Amino acid sequence: MIIPTDGTVLVLGAGIFGLTAAIELRHRGYQVTMADPGPVPHPLAASNDVSRMVRMDYGADGFYTELCAKAIDGWHSWNRRWGKDLYHEDGFLLMSSVAMAAGSFEQDSYSLLTGQGLPLERLKPGQLTNKYPLWSTDYYIDGYFNPKAGWAEAAQTTAELKKDALATGVSIVTGFAAVRLLQNAGRVIGAVAADGKELHAEWVLVAAGVWTTVLVPELADRMWPVGQPIFYFKPSNLDDYKPPVFPPWGADIPRSGWYGFPANSEGVVKIANHGPGRRVGPDVARVTLREQEDHCREFIAQSLPSLATLPLEDSKLCLYCDTWDGDFWISRDPDRQGLVVSTGGSGHAFKFGPVLGKLAADALEGIENPYSERFAWRPLGEIRNESIRYTEA
Ligand SMILES: Cc1cc2nc3c(=O)[nH]c(=O)nc-3n(C[C@H](O)[C@H](O)[C@H](O)COP(=O)(O)OP(=O)(O)OC[C@H]3O[C@@H](n4cnc5c(N)ncnc54)[C@H](O)[C@@H]3O)c2cc1C
Repeated sequence: MIIPTDGTVLVLGAGIFGLTAAIELRHRGYQVTMADPGPVPHPLAASNDVSRMVRMDYGADGFYTELCAKAIDGWHSWNRRWGKDLYHEDGFLLMSSVAMAAGSFEQDSYSLLTGQGLPLERLKPGQLTNKYPLWSTDYYIDGYFNPKAGWAEAAQTTAELKKDALATGVSIVTGFAAVRLLQNAGRVIGAVAADGKELHAEWVLVAAGVWTTVLVPELADRMWPVGQPIFYFKPSNLDDYKPPVFPPWGADIPRSGWYGFPANSEGVVKIANHGPGRRVGPDVARVTLREQEDHCREFIAQSLPSLATLPLEDSKLCLYCDTWDGDFWISRDPDRQGLVVSTGGSGHAFKFGPVLGKLAADALEGIENPYSERFAWRPLGEIRNESIRYTEA
């Protein structure tokens, strides 16, 4: 078998990690083929949903705060380039049922962001109901509003990135579900699909989200799929569910995991849970369990009563590709030439879309950057930020 040494890259997976890597590598002069079972966006991909939160609030973890500041600049550039706003800077309302104290996710985020000069608005007692009337409970006694945050239309973003990839000359092959990587003399040189079709390249970049460990099984002890429920409602009084009175929000995130979004252009209000979730296989049925809906209903009865009696418009199980420590995995395989893995979104990577491609391309080229060490190919070890791996359920 001939090993290509011609600047070709095969990207496996056309989610946010794969698409941004393909575009950046193309800009750096590589000849890029991207393969995905398709269609793109894939219906089961994590990068395919109505919304994803974009926020710099990461507790005391300045690492992600700084990276997200760069990403937010990138979202504004994408909005300008695409001539439409797929990133909506509607802010982020973080509510807490306990007084914010040093060491908590809420207080640490507040201190770090205000220390950087961001004009966060601290909620005064009783102010929640005045400014954000749907939160009619007095359960949340503390919190703040961060105006430099918002949400992104995930499926639309992925669709625009696909167009960008094609426009930059990336060749997109759909109908290709890789079952195995091809190797020669210790070097990864391509992938083979179930029907026996082979694609070859000098570099293979695996960005297959929760399916990554099908292709790189030795990583299965360090990343795995975790199912998280999403619930969609369609209230009739839509204006009540729009900013500024109903911005993107997190309600007791470290203790409950609940967060959500304002009504989108289709009138859909989404509520989801960022908690320990349920470990599953990548091809699990994407349906929520009765007990998960009950859990959501308990939350809204207590906190957002206007939705309490509304039937569900829809629900689904979405899969995080969780790494053991919650940090992304953007790195060359130290043991095998020709292989780069870019995945491990751990439930919080979409917001970083505008910076992910550069990180993956740097990994392929062996260029160190301030993020490469944390996203490196690594053994199990110390967790650097508990709050990204959720705290108590
Ligand atoms: C419920 C939920 C809520 C989230 N909320 C947020 C949020 O609010 N903010 C945020 O920043 N992030 C959030 N995330 C995380 C974010 O969406 C993901 O980290 C990110 O979208 C993962 O992108 P990906 O490219 O790794 O994977 P995916 O988008 O899943 O893409 C993987 C691609 O690989 C393809 N593929 C599969 N198998 C193969 C194969 N064998 N060969 C080739 N290709 C293959 C798939 O078809 C797919 O297109 C959330 C995730 C979920 C699930």
